[in-house]
Amino acid sequence: MRALVKTAAGPGKLELQEVPVPQTGADEALIRVKACGVCGSDLKIQDDRHPYTPPVVIGHEFAGEIVQVGEGVLSWKVGDRVVSEQHIGACGHCRQCLTGNAFACSSKRAPGYFSEGAFAQFIKVPAWLLHRIPDNLSYIEAAFSEPSAVAAHGMLDRTGIAPEDVVLILGCGPIGLVAAKMAQVSGASKVVLTGVDRDEIARLPKARQLGIDHAVNVSRVDLAGLVDDLTHGEGADVVIELSGALPAIAQAFQLARRLGRVGIIGQPPGDEIAIPYRQAMFRALTVSFSYSSKYTSWERVLSLFERGAIQPAQFITHVLSLEEWERGFDLSRRGEAVKVVLEP
Ligand SMILES: [Zn+2]
Ligand SMILES: [Zn+2]
Repeated sequence: MRALVKTAAGPGKLELQEVPVPQTGADEALIRVKACGVCGSDLKIQDDRHPYTPPVVIGHEFAGEIVQVGEGVLSWKVGDRVVSEQHIGACGHCRQCLTGNAFACSSKRAPGYFSEGAFAQFIKVPAWLLHRIPDNLSYIEAAFSEPSAVAAHGMLDRTGIAPEDVVLILGCGPIGLVAAKMAQVSGASKVVLTGVDRDEIARLPKARQLGIDHAVNVSRVDLAGLVDDLTHGEGADVVIELSGALPAIAQAFQLARRLGRVGIIGQPPGDEIAIPYRQAMFRALTVSFSYSSKYTSWERVLSLFERGAIQPAQFITHVLSLEEWERGFDLSRRGEAVKVVLEP
């Protein structure tokens, strides 16, 4: 089968290759990949700025059809339309797995980074990770489930949104955009989403088209002043950091109100980050760090998609063939696309 392979460590080293179709084990399903989204972390793997184990097929935001199931798989059958959680290799026995947090299992090997991913014609996954795609969603729309589940996990599962909340979301990539919409449909009183000049190409216009209350270019607008105005000087009830940018990370702590909640999802470039620690402490902020997603995150997303409260098609600006992956990556990198989906 054709697959996009990171062949070795180092920048570049990404190419389409012929690789064997995966052999499914007893508890696994083989999925014909119908659509797989291009993620910021795929670009980072291309640039060698994200961990991975080469050689590895990359791509993790996938949707597809089951074409084969192992003899131990009872609840899925050939022809089922599915998306999948990312916890390949999770042990099922540790504290994290047993409490529904397999995303944090130490033996997990996420597809597209540490095990074979989905920019390929087929992928195999343990059947317990699968979720059913609602009938009214296309495969291309369903491929937006994974980044949306990351937003749902960090914001709904771990930080929480209440009806009176003013929610500030820093960073308007695809996850920031869907998080902003998700905060709105979860009842937030006001949602502010931020970007910078380069986001004026596609992402901030998309935020305005989605009807986000305030889509703000912080290169031009005084964000702290706006938050003050919206909250009578108190600060945001909830801040979700999705940019990974150092000034925004510091701002996440500064712009939350006393006893406010800060959710950190964006990945910064390095390990040691300066934050206003005493300010955060003496305003008694609740801070939740988050990555990946869990069962509830996926069910929430698929429910929001099924009833049209969030329409994934609004976020997908380009659909290309797997052969056109370089163009898709470039469109994403230049900020001209919101979400690019490849069809293997
Ligand atoms: Zn992703
Ligand atoms: Zn485990």
